[in-house]
Amino acid sequence: MAEAENDVPNEDVLEETSTVAASEDASTEAAANKSEQSLSFKEFLEGTHPSVFKPVHDLWEKKVRVHTEDERELTFSDIRLHCRICEGERTFRATRGSDEYRWSTRKVNLHPIYLCGDCQNETKYYALQVAFGDDGGSQVYKFGEIPAFGIPVSNRLLRLFGNEDASLFLKGRQCENLGYGVAAFAYYRRVVENHKNDLFNEIIKVCRTVGASAELINELEAAKREISFSKSIEKIKAGLPEGLLIDGHNPLNALHNALSVGLHNEADEDCLSDAQAVRLVLGELVDRIALLKQENRELTNAVQRLLAKKK
Ligand SMILES: [Zn+2]
Repeated sequence: MAEAENDVPNEDVLEETSTVAASEDASTEAAANKSEQSLSFKEFLEGTHPSVFKPVHDLWEKKVRVHTEDERELTFSDIRLHCRICEGERTFRATRGSDEYRWSTRKVNLHPIYLCGDCQNETKYYALQVAFGDDGGSQVYKFGEIPAFGIPVSNRLLRLFGNEDASLFLKGRQCENLGYGVAAFAYYRRVVENHKNDLFNEIIKVCRTVGASAELINELEAAKREISFSKSIEKIKAGLPEGLLIDGHNPLNALHNALSVGLHNEADEDCLSDAQAVRLVLGELVDRIALLKQENRELTNAVQRLLAKKK
């Protein structure tokens, strides 16, 4: 599809023809990153968060021209991204397969657009700067991307937090994407503390529907009265219904362990790992609550259908 358009000038590309001076910032970074292991362009688009230069080794090939200046041909290979419409990882294809630049062009701004191969509806926009090296490599900088980098937070989780705190939680997600561990952790902890009771209410509701023990429900009610999330988890001694366990473990204990660490002493990388764990466990817990409710509703309907038939 995109290959057929090879010779059409790309409206999405802002080509800068000025040479050495213009590429100063990019080449300084290039020198600094020389020892860094280079990525494929696919890896760069899929896995590199905005605001860093990365060496990329397979973005272009030299095309020798007889009557004009040689050129670099850029190839935009397929990538794998999360599609919000298909709700999973899908293959995305560039709306243009390739671009060509004169050899003397040292730096270009690129705006490749990718489309989900399945639904043909979800679109990913990138804003990049490329500083070409002479040896087949380049330094690539990601100004940004829409939708934002990283697998998005599930809507189910965001709904639990309401508008204001959902946007705080998303800021935490952005920090996590940028590798800002302390910041991501602080955002997540604040939102979880604010919505401790909403989370407990959801768990209590599901415990009632699946017929959990009165002991557990009482403990969950008592946990709601505690001020901090960590303290409240300590109130719960009875086991959660099996359907809420993650790999056989109580997700509330996992959240407790992650959230009770102090931000003051932890290394940034540890905060980042804790923040990621909190987000993943929360997401999984909320999904399991919804699944249990759904299964229970289907079961109730099935029983009623059978009972009606008997009459
Ligand atoms: Zn899709």
